[in-house]
Amino acid sequence: MTKLALLGGTPLRSTPFPAYRSIGDEEKHAVLAVLDRGILSQFLGTWSPDFFGGPEVQALESEWAAYFGCKHAVAVNSATSGLYAAVGAAGIGPGDEVIVSPYTMSASATAALAYGGIPVFADIDPETFCLDPDSIRQRISPRTRAIIAVDIFGHPAAFGEIMSIAQQHNLLVIEDAAQAPGASLNGRLAGTLAHMGVFSLNYHKTIHCGEGGVIVTDDDKFADRLRLIRNHAEAVIKAKGYQSRDELVNLVGFNYRMTEIEAAIARQQLKKLDSLLVSRIAAAEHLTRRLAGMPGITPPGVASGVKHGYYVFAIKYDAAAVGMPRARFADALRAEGIPIGTGYVEPLYLQPMYQEQIAFGKDGFPFTLGSKEATNYKRGLCPIAEDMHFETVLTTDICHAGIRQDDLDDFVNAVSKVLDHRLDLKEASK
Ligand SMILES: *Cc1c(COP(=O)(O)O)cnc(C)c1O
Repeated sequence: MTKLALLGGTPLRSTPFPAYRSIGDEEKHAVLAVLDRGILSQFLGTWSPDFFGGPEVQALESEWAAYFGCKHAVAVNSATSGLYAAVGAAGIGPGDEVIVSPYTMSASATAALAYGGIPVFADIDPETFCLDPDSIRQRISPRTRAIIAVDIFGHPAAFGEIMSIAQQHNLLVIEDAAQAPGASLNGRLAGTLAHMGVFSLNYHKTIHCGEGGVIVTDDDKFADRLRLIRNHAEAVIKAKGYQSRDELVNLVGFNYRMTEIEAAIARQQLKKLDSLLVSRIAAAEHLTRRLAGMPGITPPGVASGVKHGYYVFAIKYDAAAVGMPRARFADALRAEGIPIGTGYVEPLYLQPMYQEQIAFGKDGFPFTLGSKEATNYKRGLCPIAEDMHFETVLTTDICHAGIRQDDLDDFVNAVSKVLDHRLDLKEASK
């Protein structure tokens, strides 16, 4: 057997893995049609038909709502904007506690901060990497108002339990489905499992339009408020005819508007979602099959009733079983020409913003409004998320439509090569 590349041998693979490209002629033609019309965004921040955007935006919204089987879809310029708007629409205010996952993209938690809310981090489930319902229960206090649950890596969170906890405690639930378009739980599509769901259309996601996002909901009032917040709410609420002081809550608007070009691209991408997902699932299942049984390597788990979207393929690595630290294993794989990440994101509460409790202004707003328990962001707060980040998880994003079986086999063969030669590495590090 050949020597490990890390020890001077020949790398198993010398060419880069194919990049994910989902943009084709369909998107090109759609963009050219918008350019020919010459109106690149039709939004107007006054109370008029154009308050709701141009024809591409509105067509995207109705097609999105039809695909996802929900009453309303609201297109915005990013999932970050979508999460902020959802928290605003939900009426979250200063000092309200919002339970979030620490093992996610940072905006899932900053959405609460944006309205003066306090992100309260619950731990994750070590099989799905999504919020653990038991940990959510432990974090509920009289000031808890909402839960933001993330379908991390494309695996829907445990919404059956989460929604019943929410009902019991009268909490609002926002689903961050940025990584999970097309995934499902018991036949219901990710994004539609909570009171509001948020998708991302940024360049890295399963379907994209450069930058963009969509919020879905079945609730008329939320949809109304989302559309107001998207487009300078405060400037139109009088003309729209507001009813009461209560109705004004959080109707400070922003410009979260999506352009006609982005919407035109997103409409074409939505048509491709099913087939793009078939490729992802096939690739992931191939990897899972071939990695199964390798010592110290656990392919991603899939909870019962779940269709996984495999935005990220997350492997659990057992350093004791392999006899090598994770970082060394990853270095050995990279030397073989295999793209591999370690840990995914650091649990969010370890970011300086939470550690120093400085967000808006220099006096600690909104953390100063939170209780001691809610703002305990010490290391050790979420042991599973910390273990996944610091010790256990290896990630790859090679499960996509541009990957061929040879590429997947190179990945598996490299893992197997490093495992077979693990004693050589031990010798070399003596
Ligand atoms: C990508 C992502 C976001 C943010 O999406 P943008 O469209 O870039 O704002 C939010 N949450 C999760 C889980 C994501 O992966």
